[in-house]
Amino acid sequence: MSSIQWFPGHMTKARRQIQEKLKLIDLAIELLDARIPFSSRNPMIDEILLGKPRLIILNKSDLADPRTTEQWMDQFKREGHVSIAVDSSTGTKVNQIPVLAKEVLHDKIARQIAKGIKPRAVRGLIVGIPNVGKSTLINRLAGRSIAATGDRPGVTKGQQWIKVGTEMELLDTPGILWPKFEDQLVGYRLAMTGAIKEQILNVEDIAFFAMKELSQRYWDTIAGRYELEVPPPSDMDDPDEIVRIMEAIGRKRGCLISGGRVDLEKASGVILRDLRSGKLGRITLEAPEFA
Ligand code: GDP
Repeated sequence: MSSIQWFPGHMTKARRQIQEKLKLIDLAIELLDARIPFSSRNPMIDEILLGKPRLIILNKSDLADPRTTEQWMDQFKREGHVSIAVDSSTGTKVNQIPVLAKEVLHDKIARQIAKGIKPRAVRGLIVGIPNVGKSTLINRLAGRSIAATGDRPGVTKGQQWIKVGTEMELLDTPGILWPKFEDQLVGYRLAMTGAIKEQILNVEDIAFFAMKELSQRYWDTIAGRYELEVPPPSDMDDPDEIVRIMEAIGRKRGCLISGGRVDLEKASGVILRDLRSGKLGRITLEAPEFA
């Protein structure tokens, strides 16, 4: 899934598939990766959703820097969107989603009540780029309703809706969006977090890029985690300086080849694994730009 090559034809098809479902739903639930909310966002999301109300979810917030996550939520609020940070893998805050979905649709629901119509369950569609956690979240939400009712799973063959408690229903297949490929920086950030598989970009290149970003923003964190005794790069634009740090990490982690030289490929693998699994701490690579 994550190694899909998105050609214009695929994008048109993905867009059409989502737009066909828009008439069935009350709101779109847009999933972003809390570590890279900018890069994990589809560049055409506003046009694709055709003005459909939206709830923004910063997923994988367990891996992201909580202060920056707060800044992103403030930013979305300024843009007029309701948002929430969740961890779909453990379910933290996931139970807030139906509550917030109703908040997003507050005016519509209030109008129905004023007309004497009893509001039905809110209907949603989860959308997001590959690997952002769409299936994990759907399973979480479905599981919650299963647990609550003690019933059979809410997904019946041929049925399109998954019940989430009594107040929300989700389409059982999420809408798949594509990221912004044109921007090389975006590509590397997606690769660092594991959203793009390594066949597309070389592992050493990704780790190099990661070290550059981490040295700038999180030097104390990585120096602490790897117990580095070397100074930070003196010039972030000097590739030798970044490689020097990668080698220092490789040496600490025993990634050596004959002659005591550092196996840079192996060290790169270690760095990326540690970063993606959260072993380097909670790291966010993109902060919102304030207007
Ligand atoms: P999809 O392609 O959008 O459906 O993404 P998946 O649901 O398959 O998730 C991709 C990977 O991210 C899986 O390995 C999940 O276990 C992991 N994942 C999903 N949500 C979270 C989360 O909130 N926190 C963490 N740490 N991992 C998550």
